[in-house]
Amino acid sequence: MIQDLRARESTQWTPASWREFPAAQQPDWPDEDHVRRVGAELAALPPLVTAPEVYALRRALCRVAHAGGFVVQAGDCAETFAAPDFVGTAAKVRLLHDAAKRLHDELKVPVVPIGRIAGQYGKPRSSPTERVGDQVLPSFRGEIVNGREPTAAARTPDPARMRLAYQHSAEVFGILRELAAAGLALSGRWGSETPAVWTSHEALVLDYEEPMVRFDEETGAWLLTSTHLPWIGARTCEPDGAHVRFLAGVANPVGLKVGPGCTPGRLEELCARLDPDRQPGRLVLIARMGAGVVGERLPELVRAVAASGHPVVWMSDPMHGNTRAAGPLKTRRIGDVLAELAGFTAAVRGAGGWPGGLHLEATPEDVTECVGGRDPVVEADLPLRYRTACDPRLNGDQADEVVAAMAALCAR
Ligand code: PEP
Ligand code: MN
Repeated sequence: MIQDLRARESTQWTPASWREFPAAQQPDWPDEDHVRRVGAELAALPPLVTAPEVYALRRALCRVAHAGGFVVQAGDCAETFAAPDFVGTAAKVRLLHDAAKRLHDELKVPVVPIGRIAGQYGKPRSSPTERVGDQVLPSFRGEIVNGREPTAAARTPDPARMRLAYQHSAEVFGILRELAAAGLALSGRWGSETPAVWTSHEALVLDYEEPMVRFDEETGAWLLTSTHLPWIGARTCEPDGAHVRFLAGVANPVGLKVGPGCTPGRLEELCARLDPDRQPGRLVLIARMGAGVVGERLPELVRAVAASGHPVVWMSDPMHGNTRAAGPLKTRRIGDVLAELAGFTAAVRGAGGWPGGLHLEATPEDVTECVGGRDPVVEADLPLRYRTACDPRLNGDQADEVVAAMAALCAR
């Protein structure tokens, strides 16, 4: 199914090639020597994912690209360095498995569960500073970069945090593998040595990702071993930017967030860079448009990608285009989330594609971060259990409602 996993760029590409290109959203590290020391340490540590796992995920996504499967990706906006506990991780896996089961029951195709998990520690920010109470501080950029506490000291980027990010990822991977061994893998879907769900994160902090690239002697391909599915965020998706150049050279499947400002020409350029050999399952396009504009913006993008022959997976992220302020907090309304899903499925279907994926920020916890749902959270409830380290997540009930709605839309 996958003839040649080597990215075409790999003849000249090296893990450090991105350094020739402008890199948006990188930490302003106070000590470059320290960054180099941590990088050397990371390069000597064991990979967190294996080559057979990465290739197995590519084969699974290949089926999705051909409309013979569905992919559900979900988890925290930002994971934290709080000790990863077995029970909490099991609950996150259960949320994904329940979603996969519901989608499978409705669609009757294999469903691929992917967590935003075991490495989702870096956050792009729209402003370099943020107001916390009456202070203006450097923005929190995820625990791989700085601390959340509202002090200038905590907000100073610390390269040692990249080493901690590896350690925390490794602990979560350990739990995911134990859960699979204990029977929490989707039965028979893949071998028992793989984790209970596939893993993903935004490959944002390139000083961390670069030393996690390893050469796979067997296939002659470079692999990013920090996660199975790295993605490129909406703020770092310049075709000639460092993030695109970096992920162009690895054999992993790659996600790309596609926002409302993306033009057909620009998307074709991005697809050409990231999927020059037009391999099904290589590229997952994650549309995050906003409920109000998805119907207008998405169809021409889907048509352009189809016309240029890239057999991508189209996935909807109905969260990030629908963030709104509720006093000092950020929230999202379930009504907007459902409206974006309806617009997404209509747009992709209308352009002859398969709306084969759903991307959520969701937690099994009973949080009050998003508004609406069957047992509705109202705006006044938000402060009750608002626990996210970054963007507002669906709670377990809200996630279940959104997944059920997507299953119904895709079954039509
Ligand atoms: C995210 O997925 O948390 C995120 C920052 O998304 P986007 O890049 O689409 O804004
Ligand atoms: Mn987010």
